[in-house]
Amino acid sequence: MKPAELIMLGSGYALAIRNYNACFTLRTESGCLLVDAGGGNGILRQLQQAEIAPEHLNEMFVTHAHTDHLLGALWVLRLIGHSMQQGKYSGTFRVRGCDRTIRILDRIGRMTLPRRVQALMGERIELIEMGDGETFDCAGLRIQCFDTGSTKEKQYGFRAQLPDGQHLVCLGDEPYRDRNRSYVVGADWLIHEAFCLERDRGRFHPEDKGHGTVRDAARTATHLGVRNLILYHTEEERPERRKEEYSAEAATEFSGGIYVPDDLEHLLLHDK
Ligand SMILES: [Zn+2]
Repeated sequence: MKPAELIMLGSGYALAIRNYNACFTLRTESGCLLVDAGGGNGILRQLQQAEIAPEHLNEMFVTHAHTDHLLGALWVLRLIGHSMQQGKYSGTFRVRGCDRTIRILDRIGRMTLPRRVQALMGERIELIEMGDGETFDCAGLRIQCFDTGSTKEKQYGFRAQLPDGQHLVCLGDEPYRDRNRSYVVGADWLIHEAFCLERDRGRFHPEDKGHGTVRDAARTATHLGVRNLILYHTEEERPERRKEEYSAEAATEFSGGIYVPDDLEHLLLHDK
């Protein structure tokens, strides 16, 4: 069996310019789940450059309703709607998230999308409000959603069982909280926000934005017995040094696999 693959579509924070905002896909032999869509029309270019056709996207999960995660979802709906009208997309496209996220997406969609796409909403484009702890299956993944306990905006993360039995956990752009311990503990893969290096904390003040540093994420990974740590949702001051510097700082606190993928980088979620 080919391992599942994470394709990083956007590794950047909200005000990213050189990178795209935080979003990625999980791809297996049976399909593709898009997680968040960044902040705008740039998602179309990221998908095209990653050679992911709209017909290949089975579903989308939106972690929360902030601009840098949600607004690109409108463009995905427009893209999928277009593909459906051209007869290329068969079946139903489902978008999932917490009640608040889904209601906001539905409302903005009905205010801004072309009528022909709106007509598909509730028909072949389903917006589904998920409950805390609820599960769904997509692309050979079994996914359990959970409330991250965000204080800035209601936000859901998830624990996904990959086809080979490994577990990948996504916390959206929230640092780990103890209330989510049972979901995160022992994960094979943890995708975690890391706003900046610890040494840059005094300049970026990630805590004021509800974010943490690379060192914080690495300590969490060690504390919870995680095997591999994937860092994203970062500042972009020195993009050419980010992989090296972030990996080095994480390695001071965590001895597992450390990944700081660039935009459009593919990461094989191998089981070893
Ligand atoms: Zn964000």
